[in-house]
Amino acid sequence: MFEKLRQAMQQHEIQVLWVSNPANVRYLSNFSTPKDGKVLVTLEDAFLITDDRYLVQAKLESKIPVKMARFEAVLEFVHEIVRGRPLGFEADDTSYKQFDALRSLNAPLRPVENLVDNLRAVKTPLELTKIREAARLNDLALERVLPKIVPGAVERDIALEIEIEMRRAGADGCAFEITVASGERSAMPHGGASGKVIGDNELVTVDMGANYQGYLSDMTRTYATGNPNEELKNIHRIVAKAHQAALEKVRAGVKAFDVDFAARDVIAKAGYGEYFGHSVGHGVGLDIHEQPSVSYRNEDNKLEAGMVITIEPGIYLPEKGGVRIEDLVLVTENGFEFLSHAPRNSV
Ligand code: ZN
Ligand code: ZN
Repeated sequence: MFEKLRQAMQQHEIQVLWVSNPANVRYLSNFSTPKDGKVLVTLEDAFLITDDRYLVQAKLESKIPVKMARFEAVLEFVHEIVRGRPLGFEADDTSYKQFDALRSLNAPLRPVENLVDNLRAVKTPLELTKIREAARLNDLALERVLPKIVPGAVERDIALEIEIEMRRAGADGCAFEITVASGERSAMPHGGASGKVIGDNELVTVDMGANYQGYLSDMTRTYATGNPNEELKNIHRIVAKAHQAALEKVRAGVKAFDVDFAARDVIAKAGYGEYFGHSVGHGVGLDIHEQPSVSYRNEDNKLEAGMVITIEPGIYLPEKGGVRIEDLVLVTENGFEFLSHAPRNSV
């Protein structure tokens, strides 16, 4: 990965790169508390910089040399390495304070975007093993908690039960705040889980993911309690059709843009276009939303074999309810492979 990164650095006329995005720090170093670390990459070397709280952990985990330093000592070390050479920094992940410190180094500063992130889009076999496990833990937790999603249950309790089952089965935690959104609340794509009691004849959207050794999974199912009204059943059918249409497009070489449009077309033709605002999917790995973006807004992205993406169309009707169906898939040369296996239901 460093070879590719250094090629990208040279294309951007950067000789040293200051990496502060935690997922990127973890990717390059393997350090599992990356929010307290930085990585400095030159055309010859790479260092993990952290402080003495991580003396044992960093040396144990890091696959690149570790520099223990705090505050001014960090800057001194970076100064020594940079020696006035063009220095890249991650525009989206550099605080003003950090920027100010970098500016004091007297080196040409070059903001970069997605330099390391783009490398992360295609997964290594080891990364895939971890994502598969995160997806398996997710499926298992849902299977165990599904019988409890009934009228009278509290959304927050369901979310808690899912987290407990994931952790019990070996997850390091949730990939993100679990959503259990019932009734009108299901119209909120990322509604979280509230104190609401699940009622009769409601849609219940469950969006969940597990964290396994830093790698994440992501999946959504929308269930019904009892017999919801015709409109709600209908939007579930439409979303399922849109989901299928998008999946049929997925394979190496296609534009991510076309995958999004396949789903969007189905929903628009059914008359619900304005109720599907978000993009159809995103990459998943060390971050829950990472490259590639599978969006109609992005014309440049092409899918490649080894990318892990979600396919998640939805329809959200204010004050009525909403449906999203999301699967995690691995892009292959000829199509895709499901990483999430929880049964796709109808309502
Ligand atoms: Zn999700
Ligand atoms: Zn997602």
